[in-house]
Amino acid sequence: MTDSNIIDGKAFAETLRARVGTLAASFEAQAGRKAGLAVVLVGEDPASQVYVRSKGKQTVACGMASFEHKLPADTDEASLLALVEALNADPAVDGILVQLPLPAHLDEQKVIATINPDKDVDGFHVINAGRLAVGQKGFVPCTPLGCLMLLKDRLGNLSGLDAVVIGRSNIVGKPMAQLLLGESCTVTIAHSRTKDLAEVVRRADIVVAAVGRAEMVKGDWIKPGATVIDVGINRVASLDPVAAAEGKTRLVGDVDFASVAPVAGAITPVPGGVGPMTIAVLLRNTLVAAHANAGIALAEGAI
Ligand code: NDP
Repeated sequence: MTDSNIIDGKAFAETLRARVGTLAASFEAQAGRKAGLAVVLVGEDPASQVYVRSKGKQTVACGMASFEHKLPADTDEASLLALVEALNADPAVDGILVQLPLPAHLDEQKVIATINPDKDVDGFHVINAGRLAVGQKGFVPCTPLGCLMLLKDRLGNLSGLDAVVIGRSNIVGKPMAQLLLGESCTVTIAHSRTKDLAEVVRRADIVVAAVGRAEMVKGDWIKPGATVIDVGINRVASLDPVAAAEGKTRLVGDVDFASVAPVAGAITPVPGGVGPMTIAVLLRNTLVAAHANAGIALAEGAI
């Protein structure tokens, strides 16, 4: 392993945000208003609060308008749907994101289905999932799109490569597999029922791990030279026993970095790999939505 084998998602995300910033300024000059992202947070989940704060700060830093709507945990469905409808109708709002998970009494699918698909910058609406499945333009979920950007930046043309995506969630695994198929990879989707996962992963030129199990993917599962994208974010006890006893934690991915990095041709670290890409892609999607909503052309591949 050398430093050049590390895929620096933090640096890539910074460059992407800078490009978004430049294009957001030219959008504002042409449209006479800023591109706008509305984020809805229901309840006080601490991790969600951190994400929402971070999204708001980065939106403003890119020269776009951030509209935050914080609702109490006991908000009823009708009030939440009414807010989403109001945001659908608001011309200052180009993108709408409802932070998940929602409190258990609210139906996430119903809320997502209420978002105007052309403002669905998270790409979770079934219309956008369908557009991705049939190869039409639409919004693609931010994390897998960020993974694809990192892969293309590192490998160039992905055509013909064997890709294994571990995980089949609607927000990461399935759209990731669709994107790789769109790049003409031969795609295998693995999940909790997959037989002999290690053997399946060993065939892959590209491995995307989106499982939610700390350090599950081991070095002897990896074909030498393969590119490994680790989507996982898992909090585990600190390695320092004293710190661990005090309840201190550290972040690890779904990939056992220590054993995989020496075998892989390239690998994303955790933190600093896929994580920073998610918000950068959200801002990119919002800018794309703004151009479409305002009827201003954005050159193909400009962002
Ligand atoms: P989900 O829990 O929705 O999906 C996990 C998937 O992993 C499921 O398809 C499940 O299979 C599969 N799985 C579970 N155990 C195994 C196993 N032992 N072997 C093989 N497959 C298994 O998770 P998400 O897709 O939402 O997230 C995955 C990870 O990515 C998490 O760590 C999450 O924190 C992280 N994440 C990171 C983001 C970022 O910005 N970097 C954004 C989103 C997620 P089955 O369907 O059979 O149950």
